[in-house]
Amino acid sequence: MHPLAKLDQRYVWHPFTQMRDWMRQEPIVIVEGHGSVLRDAKGREYLDANASIWTNLHGHNHPKLNAAIRRQLGKVAHSSALGLANEPASRLAEQLVDAANPQPAPRARGLSPRLEKVFFSDDGSTAMEVTLKLAYEFTRRAGHKTKLRFLSLEGAYHGDTVGAVSLGHIDLFHKTYSGLLFPTDKVMAPYCYRCPFNRAKPERADARDYRRCHWECLDKLEQKCSRQKKTGHPYAAFVFEPLMQGAAGMIPQPQGWLARAAQMARAHGALLIADEVMTGFGRTGCTIAGQGPSLHAMAGAEGVALSGGRRASRSGPDSSGIFACHQEGVQPDFMALAKGLTGGYLPMAATLTTQQIFGAFLGAYNEFKSFFHGHSFTGNQLGAAAALASLDMLRNPAAVQARGELADAMGHELKQLWPLSRVGDIRQVGLVAGIELVGDWRTRKPFPLSARAGIRVCEAMASRGVLTRSIGNVIVLMPPYCTKPEQLSRMVKVLRQAISAALG
Ligand code: PMP
Repeated sequence: MHPLAKLDQRYVWHPFTQMRDWMRQEPIVIVEGHGSVLRDAKGREYLDANASIWTNLHGHNHPKLNAAIRRQLGKVAHSSALGLANEPASRLAEQLVDAANPQPAPRARGLSPRLEKVFFSDDGSTAMEVTLKLAYEFTRRAGHKTKLRFLSLEGAYHGDTVGAVSLGHIDLFHKTYSGLLFPTDKVMAPYCYRCPFNRAKPERADARDYRRCHWECLDKLEQKCSRQKKTGHPYAAFVFEPLMQGAAGMIPQPQGWLARAAQMARAHGALLIADEVMTGFGRTGCTIAGQGPSLHAMAGAEGVALSGGRRASRSGPDSSGIFACHQEGVQPDFMALAKGLTGGYLPMAATLTTQQIFGAFLGAYNEFKSFFHGHSFTGNQLGAAAALASLDMLRNPAAVQARGELADAMGHELKQLWPLSRVGDIRQVGLVAGIELVGDWRTRKPFPLSARAGIRVCEAMASRGVLTRSIGNVIVLMPPYCTKPEQLSRMVKVLRQAISAALG
């Protein structure tokens, strides 16, 4: 065993990992990365098919990001945001506000508060924790002193800190800590492939494209919100990942769902919290100017859903749109950002919110209305410098065009998985895809989690030089944006081989 692998096994405790299994085999020790390729301590190369847990945007060792960090390192690495401002964090806040308020404004039927203030933190969980505390306190100060409740989606995952865990609904992660958590409500997520209201028989296509339903998921949301409102205590906030729920199993929302859901929640008095930790920074495609959400696309003859759950991944004139909620014309009151914020280089996060929320925390010193929350590395200068360089690259029209082309190529490559009987659903949004493995596509019968089907497929992929992680029985493909067409093709080819090798 490589000495570095020995060191790891001796001392390191890995996240979300059964360490007994980990100790049974030699871990891959990454020592280098270039573009979409990672190299291990033994000199073997791997394609990074999950962008280093959904963080990496432009590839590893990117010259522009490296240079930006080096430049900043030559000045200062970190200074406290408690009592001090700094250059890259101030500039980054301005850029984030610019990106979060695209022009022309999202066509959102009045759902357009400007996001004007940026609170920095360290990772996705803290961005959500900040969001939660701000929403809670704002609602209290608005006069709702008791029985504040939050609503989130079934299967939701918003991080691992106690507040963020409270918003989540994956029993496997959350049940153990139920004694520590505060109660939140959940509502049906639009999981078309396994929706009990979808009357369509399985087909060899994305379930959103052939579903037959009456948008019962939205009825459930309406019922939930109106029942809560009738108690005299409307939901403080509705929390969602826009366009696609990540850790829930890469569950995409059919076109029009988010716009309607946001409108309903708002109409019932809830603030909107968009967790863009995974979806943000161009991962799901981009805003197309003049194409807001269309309600007529939501119901066809007899109210049965039309096909067309996909969104265009191509850029339009407003190609700078980098946030998923804007693709549905939804502007939230809070937007939580992390993962790709620094291009996947450094741990940094941000919570964006409105002047109205900010205003509720203003007052004379001795009113003690300040937001009493903060982290030692808030507004880190190296992270902010990397994020500025990353944003600059992301919003370049040529890069937007290239992302659209890569997403189209990905859609094309993924088609070759449909002939496999173990593939039940392939769902792609922009440059993220989930491939759901099943016993047989004709029955949608799931593998029991104990069969470790997803893990076995990922192990078979790793042995063929492609790295990703599964979520239960769903294999994630999320390439860095710099991935070349031939690398993308290899990722999918290896996935196909691995499914056949591991599952027959
Ligand atoms: N929200 C979402 C949607 C996420 O996917 C994640 C992480 N997978 C988080 C929050 C938490 O982010 P972090 O791991 O950086 O704390």
